[in-house]
Amino acid sequence: MSKANTRMTKQRKEILKILRATKTHPTADWIYDQVKKEIPNISLGTIYRNLNILVEMGKIRVLNYGSSYSRYDGVPENHYHFICDSCGKVFDLDIPVNKTLENYISEKTPFQIFNHRTEFYGLCVECQEKN
Ligand code: ZN
Ligand code: MN
Repeated sequence: MSKANTRMTKQRKEILKILRATKTHPTADWIYDQVKKEIPNISLGTIYRNLNILVEMGKIRVLNYGSSYSRYDGVPENHYHFICDSCGKVFDLDIPVNKTLENYISEKTPFQIFNHRTEFYGLCVECQEKN
């Protein structure tokens, strides 16, 4: 990435502020609607471009779940997620990342492990109460 690309522009600052203020792991469309309130003439393409740059800069994370659209996470450090099978909401799990598992795989395989990503699936509290 070129150096000019790593500057924190007004647009990037706004996107980052919005992502840091929510725990919902929103889509680009949702972020677009929020940013428009502050920067009315911004385009969805610009939102996508800046989200990708923020991911490359390590300021945010992108969560791709198979065929569905990407969600964005304002917490850049590795952490686990719980995804509700019924409503699709994504929750942060406040538990430590399992480094023992990474060490185990490093020992048992020829691979050099840098990190891992794990998602847990089931029913959120709200959906349990509905059922
Ligand atoms: Zn749910
Ligand atoms: Mn998260």
